[in-house]
Amino acid sequence: MIDARSNHDEVLAQRARALVALAERCALDGDESAGVAATALDQLIFLTLANRTSAATARFAYALLRARYATWREVVTAPRDDVAEVIRPAGLAQQRAGLLQGLLARVLADFPDESLAALRAWDDQAVAAYFTTLPGIGPLRAHQVMLYALDRPVFPGTWALRRLLTRLGIVDRAVSLDRVLDAVASLLEPGQHRLVHDRLSAHARDVCAPRHPRCRRCRLADLCAHDRRIQRLRGLTAPRLAKG
Ligand code: SF4
Repeated sequence: MIDARSNHDEVLAQRARALVALAERCALDGDESAGVAATALDQLIFLTLANRTSAATARFAYALLRARYATWREVVTAPRDDVAEVIRPAGLAQQRAGLLQGLLARVLADFPDESLAALRAWDDQAVAAYFTTLPGIGPLRAHQVMLYALDRPVFPGTWALRRLLTRLGIVDRAVSLDRVLDAVASLLEPGQHRLVHDRLSAHARDVCAPRHPRCRRCRLADLCAHDRRIQRLRGLTAPRLAKG
């Protein structure tokens, strides 16, 4: 009798291996990091600014905040309207300013030296549990901070990655995004997670774009379920169009 569970685990492992191999092909599409490459606190602030806006706009707002306040503690004590004015380019300024001040007040009460260095001694689960208690920080953002600021072996499942993996046929009804990314995280050697995540994220952003994926310049097209579907549809509709 076929053991359905071990069969599913094998499918999961195969797809995780395939994804790691595909990431190798994306290497030349750009290795720009999705974070601000700084401390965990910097990354938490950046991600709060990046919520519902582009990374470029969030970087701009982050730079404005950095230029206006000498320390993060000054942001906590500043009038909310002033903070909102500084970060206005990111949008939702008042709401975002309130979230930022609440987050900073919590973190600086827990880690007065701003470094969060104590987190280095915590295991992954404890770090994720702490981050998700902070205002505006859910499991995805917690994993992003862990990957980009603490170099932890996690693989955050962003919307861009969900889109790419669904189009490739690696994620479907049989295999969920979270499970395949957990399998990828456990396959990689320590220190590889950020590079592989960056490569796939850059490909999802720059090539496999939401509305107009650039399939003709995609290095993964020969293995892509979405591209095969499009080619099949073109093959089916072309004769009809020719007749009309
Ligand atoms: S072939 Fe097209 S849909 Fe498939 S991964 Fe590449 S860009 Fe995305």
